[in-house]
Amino acid sequence: MRILLASSEVHPYSKTGGLADMIGALGKALAQAGHQVGVVTPLYRGIKERFPQIRRVDWQFDLPLGGKWVQAELWSLKPTERLTIYFVHQPAYFDRAGLYNENGVDYPDNGERFIFFSKCVAHLARYLPWQPEFVHVNDWQTGLVPAMVLHQARGEGWGNPPPVCLTIHNLAYQGWFPRNAYELTNLSPAYFQAEGAESFGHLNCLKAGIAFADAITTVSPRYAREITTEEFGEGLDWLLRKRQSRLFGILNGVDYDEWNTTQNPFLKHQYSVARLAGKRANKLALQREMKLPVKPNTPLFGAITRLTEQKGISIELGALEEMLNADIHFVLLGSGGTDYERAFQKLTQRFPNKAAVRLGYDQGLSHRIEAGCDFYLMPSRFEPCGLNQMYSLRYGTIPIVRTTGGLDDTVVDASTNPRKATGIKFAAYSAPALAKAIRKSLVIYQSARLLQLYRRNGMAADFSWNRTVAEYEKVYAARRAR
Ligand code: ADP
Repeated sequence: MRILLASSEVHPYSKTGGLADMIGALGKALAQAGHQVGVVTPLYRGIKERFPQIRRVDWQFDLPLGGKWVQAELWSLKPTERLTIYFVHQPAYFDRAGLYNENGVDYPDNGERFIFFSKCVAHLARYLPWQPEFVHVNDWQTGLVPAMVLHQARGEGWGNPPPVCLTIHNLAYQGWFPRNAYELTNLSPAYFQAEGAESFGHLNCLKAGIAFADAITTVSPRYAREITTEEFGEGLDWLLRKRQSRLFGILNGVDYDEWNTTQNPFLKHQYSVARLAGKRANKLALQREMKLPVKPNTPLFGAITRLTEQKGISIELGALEEMLNADIHFVLLGSGGTDYERAFQKLTQRFPNKAAVRLGYDQGLSHRIEAGCDFYLMPSRFEPCGLNQMYSLRYGTIPIVRTTGGLDDTVVDASTNPRKATGIKFAAYSAPALAKAIRKSLVIYQSARLLQLYRRNGMAADFSWNRTVAEYEKVYAARRAR
């Protein structure tokens, strides 16, 4: 099949979170499975310098945006056979220090930037010489593409356009903009209605995608169920229930080419299930790197996260406040909310020899934390899929997770199956519930037999892309057959 993927971030070119990992890996995996794949994404600052093989394509966009016309260039790169990355080069929109914000403040023209990007996606879908048979867009940044394709099919002579699938990576980010942003879409008013792009008089880009996509997927089966309920539906559960026959939950895969412990350029010590000595060496190296006392027998807990309420940061702080009185270490790599940054800094002042925090974004350190820790904390309030718990499993680091979304789908608790247990789950969204889960982990840590059982089970768990790709292929094929 010929597939065009569109995303506002794609690893290794740009990344703020799991979306980038997922699209980078999905593109690669679809191409490996024999499909012809194009991935379209903005050309952000620094990409050209980091990927000097990138080339300008002889193709200029000149697209209407409300009353004006905006131009862009197309650049491309062919990282592997059958896979082409198309970069939209519009420096005024994308040559900036951040992807969506700077110093915690969103760019005021995000609506305009991603409406333009969505137009470029629809334009490529229509005019690429290899004629994509399926278009797969992701999150609010490309949520308007299905409506744009429909609009061109209904009124602008695009006969037989490809079906469009929207994947929701996080329903909490919907891309709301004032009504006048809708004018920039040049869509007819027919799409701006309660069962379309409109929410309380505003433009809601993700809602437009949910309303007009041929298929909707989200990144785990449990999250697909959760978002049809009021508790997790972020105000759109009614529309998702209406479209439920087209809503599928497909668990993300892990790119084990990148996330592994046997050939990992970020790790000093390689290791595997059969040779766990390397894991211990990584733990000591991490304690040194984070300036904690080097203590091989002190259980080490880690977290790598955006510092937002979604990730359960407040209950994590509460639980640590209690549990750091025990003989444990905690390391955090995080970025985001300044209040949370301050709270973690305070925690390290209260427990200087037990807690260490690194603020900012650091890919190498994220691998070293996964490898060096004994336990990984992921107490999210909600979690569409979550990748770090799956990375932890492969790194022999036991995840402690709340029973929500993809966390529930990927971790096995001893209460369900003691012989197959891979991690510890807790249900209540509260600091005491997390503290209790941490206490359980200390019991596991005391038992060499249990520790080995959890590690072995976790490291053997397989979330590779083959299964994920097969499920997306099914969705693509079913939509095309209509
Ligand atoms: P989300 O997309 O909601 O942030 P996921 O668990 O799906 O959460 O994916 C997060 C990805 O971003 C993981 O690859 C994680 O390692 C990475 N990440 C998050 N924060 C940082 C950070 N401060 N430094 C490096 N990597 C980070």
